[in-house]
Amino acid sequence: MELSGWGRYPRHRGVVVRAEDPGAVKGLVASHSGIVARGNGRAYGDAAIGETTTLLARPLDRMRRFEAETGRLTVEAGVLLSDILDAFVPRGFFPPVVPGTKLVTVGGMIAADVHGKNHHRDGGFGDHVEELTLAMPSGERWRCSRDENPELFAATIGGMGLTGVILDATFRLKRIESGWLRQRTLVAEDLAGAFAALEETSSATYSVAWIDCLAKGAKLGRSLIYAAEHASAEEVATLRPGAPLFAKGKPGRLGVPLDLPAFTLNSLSVAAFNELYFRRGAAKAGDPALVHWDPYFFPLDGVGNWNRIYGGHGFVQHQCVIPAESAKPVLAEILGRFARAGKASFLAVLKQLGPSSGTISFGMAGYTLALDLQVSDEVFTLLDEIDGLVVAAGGRLYLAKDARQSRATFEAGYPGLAAFRDMRRGIGAEGRLSSRLSARLGI
Ligand SMILES: Cc1cc2nc3c(=O)[nH]c(=O)nc-3n(C[C@H](O)[C@H](O)[C@H](O)COP(=O)(O)OP(=O)(O)OC[C@H]3O[C@@H](n4cnc5c(N)ncnc54)[C@H](O)[C@@H]3O)c2cc1C
Repeated sequence: MELSGWGRYPRHRGVVVRAEDPGAVKGLVASHSGIVARGNGRAYGDAAIGETTTLLARPLDRMRRFEAETGRLTVEAGVLLSDILDAFVPRGFFPPVVPGTKLVTVGGMIAADVHGKNHHRDGGFGDHVEELTLAMPSGERWRCSRDENPELFAATIGGMGLTGVILDATFRLKRIESGWLRQRTLVAEDLAGAFAALEETSSATYSVAWIDCLAKGAKLGRSLIYAAEHASAEEVATLRPGAPLFAKGKPGRLGVPLDLPAFTLNSLSVAAFNELYFRRGAAKAGDPALVHWDPYFFPLDGVGNWNRIYGGHGFVQHQCVIPAESAKPVLAEILGRFARAGKASFLAVLKQLGPSSGTISFGMAGYTLALDLQVSDEVFTLLDEIDGLVVAAGGRLYLAKDARQSRATFEAGYPGLAAFRDMRRGIGAEGRLSSRLSARLGI
């Protein structure tokens, strides 16, 4: 069967097996080599494609236990974040960290140690996992936590499925008084303004900047910055009298039925979209507004299959993080190169990150910039040059978005790699558990 990630590049053929229940995983893992787990396939590149065999973990979708007093939730690894939100937001609970799509599994969130708009304050999803069960390469099951098998636990958080198959996990949901966010929008006319606005809003629980990456010259980095808090019941009553505290999640409204021809995404249509987006957002700047949790956290989930907009060749996302000390000049240079090349599409996301605890987790104290680009030879040449700037600045690229970085770029960015490889050797994962990503990068 042919598989790809969300970017639809690269595509690989391979064997696919289904984990019908946790008991079945043991035999599947022990009897295949070159195998890796796949959650909901939202990693952009080749992380969730086995080198020879891909184990579908979505059928592990039972929620096992919930303690309302503490918010402690135990679920199987194939449970979707969207199912957790549907079940628990109306009961006044919210996950501690959510990425930019809710269509991900808990196993995928742990394996990528996903970050949300609160990483600078609350760390990655892995920082909130209390314990997990791992099906080892031998098929044995091991419990892992900060007290039990702590090194394996740290390697599994952000370990991209390369230490074992996560069967279940326990983490705490936080209490919320409503399903609304009290959002403040700030307008930055350039990149310096965007950094200043992110610093100004860094005490907010959530903050993120959406950059118009076609704006050049004096307007380079012009952006809208959204800072938000979960709204209290009182704030809902004041800002939107009569609104229900917990309105339901909004289902997808639009879909892209076909692959659009590549020329649809030319820089004129993108520039027009960005201009409209920027003007509309800027008009709402100033006063706080109440925004439903679904469009606030998951704006792109409203457009089904939007990955088809990029045409049949697919697209890649480039997401780097640059350490805080050098982030401003280096990201100005990177953004400038993207803007001059005119290849980046729509909007880039700029966020502050804090440190992370996984052995090869992506997070580090600094700023991360992410943008999508249609696959082409010219784009790959541009990205190689940009990777050089990232490496020189002591930064790294996010594995969950990667489809093309070189081994040298990867090795330079992840100082925990030697310990991670030792761990894989020690547990017998080397040569048995591998994805197209791990084979490409020599993990
Ligand atoms: C629109 C969009 C927005 C996004 N925004 C963000 C964001 O803001 N922040 C962020 O951090 N990420 C973001 N991502 C990336 C996404 O959150 C991660 O790639 C996540 O890992 C996807 O989860 P999944 O269940 O689809 O996993 P998959 O894509 O199927 O797999 C991802 C990795 O997890 C491993 N894995 C999956 N299940 C298991 C398991 N049971 N046991 C062991 N390993 C497993 C796979 O081997 C693979 O290495 C975004 C992706 C999209 C498409």
